[in-house]
Amino acid sequence: MAKIGINIATGSLQQDEIIVGIDLGTTNSLVAILHPDTKKPIALKEHNSSSLVPSVVHFDAFGNVTVGEAAKAFLIAEPQNTIFSAKRLMGKSYNDVKQNASFFSYKVIDDNTENLVKVQVGNKFYSPVDLSSFVLKELKQRAEHILKTPVNKAVITVPAYFNDAQRQATRDAGKLAGLDVLRIVNEPTAASLAYGLGLHKDEEKAIAVYDLGGGTFDISILKISNGIFEVLSTNGDTYLGGDDFDNAIVKYWLQQSGLNEDELKQNKEFAQAIRLKAEEAKIYLSSNEAFESQLNGDKLIITRKIFENLVQPLVDTTISCCTSALKDAGLLTKDIDVTVMVGGSTRMPIVKESISKFFGKPVNDTVNPDEVVALGAAIQADILAGNNKDVLLLDITPLSLGIETMGGLMDVLIPRNSKIPNKAARQYTTHKDGQSGMKISVYQGERDMVKDNRKLAEFNLTGIPGMPAGLPKVEVSFLINADGILVVKAKELRSGIEQSIQVKAQQDLSDEALEKMLLDSITHAKEDIATRALVEARTEGEQLLETTEKFIQKNATYLSKEEMMQTASAMQALQLAITMDDKDLIHTKAKELNDISRPYAERVMDHAISLAMKGKAV
Ligand code: ADP
Ligand code: MG
Repeated sequence: MAKIGINIATGSLQQDEIIVGIDLGTTNSLVAILHPDTKKPIALKEHNSSSLVPSVVHFDAFGNVTVGEAAKAFLIAEPQNTIFSAKRLMGKSYNDVKQNASFFSYKVIDDNTENLVKVQVGNKFYSPVDLSSFVLKELKQRAEHILKTPVNKAVITVPAYFNDAQRQATRDAGKLAGLDVLRIVNEPTAASLAYGLGLHKDEEKAIAVYDLGGGTFDISILKISNGIFEVLSTNGDTYLGGDDFDNAIVKYWLQQSGLNEDELKQNKEFAQAIRLKAEEAKIYLSSNEAFESQLNGDKLIITRKIFENLVQPLVDTTISCCTSALKDAGLLTKDIDVTVMVGGSTRMPIVKESISKFFGKPVNDTVNPDEVVALGAAIQADILAGNNKDVLLLDITPLSLGIETMGGLMDVLIPRNSKIPNKAARQYTTHKDGQSGMKISVYQGERDMVKDNRKLAEFNLTGIPGMPAGLPKVEVSFLINADGILVVKAKELRSGIEQSIQVKAQQDLSDEALEKMLLDSITHAKEDIATRALVEARTEGEQLLETTEKFIQKNATYLSKEEMMQTASAMQALQLAITMDDKDLIHTKAKELNDISRPYAERVMDHAISLAMKGKAV
C-alpha cells in the first residue's frame, strides 16, 4: 500500500512518493512526470528554458562538477575536462572503443584492455557509471527544484541494444545519484507509450520505432495485442547518429578549405569548434535551404541539397537496419500500422521523407522527438505506481543465454529473442563418483562451443554430499527480471544446497562484436553442428568407457576370460577412436563395445534379480 500524505498548505491528499521518468541520452537527458491533475506526461523545465539537459559533465581545477548547458560551454575551451557521450562508454572496455578513440576529446584510459574504461580528468579517474550519475543527479535536483518535493524513485530508459552489463551500469549510476531505479525500460517501448499505444485492451497494432539520436540509431518492431506490449525485434547501429551527420559537414568544409583530417586530430579545440558549427548548420538546414557562417575568419557555407547528398548513405544505412528488423520480426513494411519518430535527428526532412517512403505511409511525429522517450518513461512510472494495471510490458533477450556443459558445449537455457521477464531451469548431474563441487559457467551467444561465446559469470556449487556419479540432481535455473538482469541459481535437489549469482557489469562486448557474433552463428552453423556432434560423441564414448570399467571391476567374477579380453580390446578401440576427429568411428566402436558387453550385462542383471527374488541382499 502506498502511503498517502496530507498537504497541509492545501488541505488536499497527496501521494508521498513521486516516481519520475528519465531519458538518460547519449547527447541529451531529461526528466518527466505524469501531471497529477491532467494525467498527461510533461517534461520538466525551468521557466523559459529547454527541457533538455546536455549529457555533458565539466570538472574545474578544484574538482567541482557542472552538468548540462553550463558544462557544454566548456567543450571548446577545456576539452580535456569536459566529458560528453559518456553513455557510449557504459559497460565497455577500452578494447571496445579504441577504434573510436579519436571521437573522444577527453582522456579515455588505455590500461589493461580487459578492464572497463575509465576517464581521466586531471589526476582523478571516473567510470562511465560515475559520469552518468552526475547527469542523473542533475536531473534529480532539477525535478526536486521544480516540484518542490524530494525525488527518490525513477524509471530510466536505455537503448534496446543495451545488454545486461550496460543495464546494470545504468542502474548503478541511478543508485549513485541517490535514485531508487524501479525499472529500466527500453527506449522504443517508452516512445510507444508516449503515443498512447498499448494502453487499450482490444488494440492490435504493429509499430516501428525509428530512433535516430545524437550518437545512436535504433529500430524496434513492436506488437501490441490484448493489452500486451511486446518487442518483436530490434536492430540498429550504436555508432550512427546526428554526430555522423555533423561529421559529414565537417569533412565537407575541410575539403572545401583544403585542410586534411590530421589537422583536426592535432587541434582538438578547433575540431570541437568546427563540429559545433556543423551541428548548427545541420539544425538550421532542417528548416532552411542554405547555411552561411564563419570560423576564425574562414567562410563556412553549405546548402540543404549538398547536405542531403552527403548524408544519403547514412540514411540508407538506417533503412537497411529497418529491413533486417522487419525480417527478424517476420513482417513486411505493409504490416506496420504505425511508425514512431524518436530522437532529435528525425527532424531532418530527408529522414522523415525516406522513412515515410520506406514504410509507405506518413510517419508519426506529433510528439516532440526529443521528449517522447522521457514522456513514455513517466507513463511507465505511473503504471509502476499501480495506476494502470491493464498494461503489461514485455522485452526480449538480444542473445541466447546458457551454461557450459561437457566438452565445452553451450547449453542454451533461454534462447535469443525470448520475452523477458523469463525463467528457465534444467537438471544436470555429476560425472565423477563423490564429486562435491560443480562449476557453473554462464555464457551469452549463438555459437555451439562456449569458447566462441561471451562468458558472463562463473561460480562453484560446493558441498554436494558424496554420491555416485550421475546421482546428484543439480538444477540450474535462469531468471531474467523485467530489467533484463540475469540471476543464475544452482541447487542440488537431493541435499538442498544451493548457490546463486547475479550477472554483474563485466568485460563487455562491443556492438560490432555482437553483430559479428550473430553473423558468425549463421556462417559457422555447419561446422558448429559438426563440432557439437563430435563433442557429444566423445562425451558419450567416455561415459561408456567409464561405466564399462566400473561394471567390470564390480562383476569380474561373472565374466569369462574370453569376454574379458574382448571387452578390453573393444575399450581400447573406442579409446583410440575418441582421439580422432571422426564421430562415426566413435559411434561404431561404442556400438561394438555395447554388443560385447550386452550378453554378460544381462546375465549379471538376471542373476541379481533372481537373488533379490529369493530375498537375499544384492
Ligand atoms: P540522444 O538520444 O542521443 O541523446 P537526441 O534525441 O537528443 O539524442 O538527439 C540529439 C541529436 O539531434 C543531435 O545530433 C542534434 O544535432 C540533433 N538535432 C536536434 N534538433 C535537430 C534538427 N532540428 N535538425 C537536425 N538534427 C537535430
Ligand atoms: Mg534518445
